[in-house]
Amino acid sequence: MAKGADNILRKLEEWRQKEEVNPELIEFYRKLLHIQSRAERRIGIPEPGLTSEASSERIEQGLPLIGFDDLALDWLLLQEIFAEVTGAFATYSELFGEFPESLKKPEPCPSLPEETAKAWFEGGRLPSLEGVDALGEHLLEAIIHATLKPFLVSYSEALLGLVKQERWRRGYCPICGGNPDFAFLDNERGARWLLCSRCDAEWLFQRLECPYCGNQDQNALAYFTDDEGLYRLYVCEKCKRYLKAIDLRQAKSEVLLPLERLITFGLDAQAREYGYSPADRACTR
Ligand SMILES: [Zn+2]
Ligand SMILES: [Zn+2]
Repeated sequence: MAKGADNILRKLEEWRQKEEVNPELIEFYRKLLHIQSRAERRIGIPEPGLTSEASSERIEQGLPLIGFDDLALDWLLLQEIFAEVTGAFATYSELFGEFPESLKKPEPCPSLPEETAKAWFEGGRLPSLEGVDALGEHLLEAIIHATLKPFLVSYSEALLGLVKQERWRRGYCPICGGNPDFAFLDNERGARWLLCSRCDAEWLFQRLECPYCGNQDQNALAYFTDDEGLYRLYVCEKCKRYLKAIDLRQAKSEVLLPLERLITFGLDAQAREYGYSPADRACTR
């Protein structure tokens, strides 16, 4: 994945050169990706710690392969990354509207308590950070997400091979239980795969079902496409959520999915304009 992150940085640079995008936003992404890519190299690939029997059993029961307590997190490293990520958000704070003054000072960076990380992972309410006033929950979520991501990606790399795709097909990630925030239609048969917002795991899912609420009513599901038929915006009338997707059969050049989720923010704006919302950070099932 470290290699993947390098590729993403290269693509991001190409994008910056040819598109009219807020350069601050691209600089912010670059900074974040640098931090995460370096973190991935330091984390390495963890031992799976699960036999293939145990993982098959979890998959059959609809249980993701890792829970928060299964993560062997290096907390010293994690706090270091948390400080770097917080610094990146503070540097580009004008991108995020309201930003607490106390987080803009370089020292001392608050630490991320284990219970807060756990609450984020499990989709619970986030306690506020000690010594930091007025940090909106969405912003805190985004900072924790960016901090934990390299750790979760390393687990996803170690464990995804244990997932029998045809036995899962659920709306949440088989590795970490997170929600998908991107999808792709594969080259072979146009089958739809989902991409985890938290660990980048990919898994196979029905084309005609909303992964967020399980709606299968064809009259309440739709999608929009762009002129080239490359991108799709899946929407659900039942839960009013949307999912962005790329059709790899139409792609003319190399596609890096974790990058696609960033550079398609035009689709996010469109979806919001139509009255749809992105998924919550974790499953509420
Ligand atoms: Zn995941
Ligand atoms: Zn839905």
